Amino acid sequence: MTAHGPIVEARAIHKHFGHLHVLKGVDLTVAEKELVFLIGPSGSGKSTLLRCLNRLEDPTSGTVTVDGIDMLDPKTDINKARQRIGMVFQSFNLYPHMTALGNVMLALRKVLGMGRAEAEAKAKAALDRVHLADRADHYPLQLSGGQQQRVAIARAIALEPRVMLFDEPTSALDPELVGGVLAVMRELREDGMTMVVVSHEMGFAKAAADRVVFMADGAIVEEGKPAEIFANPQHARTRAFISQIE
Ligand code: ADP
Ligand code: MG
Repeated sequence: MTAHGPIVEARAIHKHFGHLHVLKGVDLTVAEKELVFLIGPSGSGKSTLLRCLNRLEDPTSGTVTVDGIDMLDPKTDINKARQRIGMVFQSFNLYPHMTALGNVMLALRKVLGMGRAEAEAKAKAALDRVHLADRADHYPLQLSGGQQQRVAIARAIALEPRVMLFDEPTSALDPELVGGVLAVMRELREDGMTMVVVSHEMGFAKAAADRVVFMADGAIVEEGKPAEIFANPQHARTRAFISQIE
């Protein structure tokens, strides 16, 4: 847990699902406060890689360290280690019968065992950070998809993670709601959050990413600064992918 060491260090990650070899020796290091943007064709292994970082999936082999904790060591308290890793998915997974505030408070009370008053204060602060302080008493169905996703982000950041993983956070949203979610992500990044983002929002990558990583067929094909990768991709597969999405 050195002050300036990498927050995420994944080495030689392989993942098999039965006979399917989905990750083929992936190395990914994410420095503190870095935003790494992960792109690649559908099925290239982006989600599986993210899920291996917090052990929603067990890699078949390789090593994963997050904030100095060996995530694959059987002696590691995995639930405690996961508290350092926030994750936001395409689907928001909010409890429909609980308000925005209730959803964020539940995480603090269940995961951190926080008392009601402290949880409420923290949850309100988190909702404020995603600009939903005035929607705290709304139920998910009374919120737009973009607002629901921002509640999901608030729920994750309330736990004060060391790194946030985003798996296509805006893919389920109507186009007019995407901007608000990306704006919140950008503010998080400016506040110094370490982030790994899987997304098709190339404008966001150009504006906010420190590094773009292109994956295909379970391997990293190339990586670099957004300007390099988008303007001057070195590999044919990267060129083909980028020309398709832009
Ligand atoms: P991406 O996020 O880049 O679209 P995924 O990581 O979701 O890719 O999937 C990579 C490959 O692994 C795909 O072929 C997918 O079908 C397969 N896969 C993902 N999860 C599972 C699973 N739980 N069981 C079997 N195959 C899976
Ligand atoms: Mg995916």
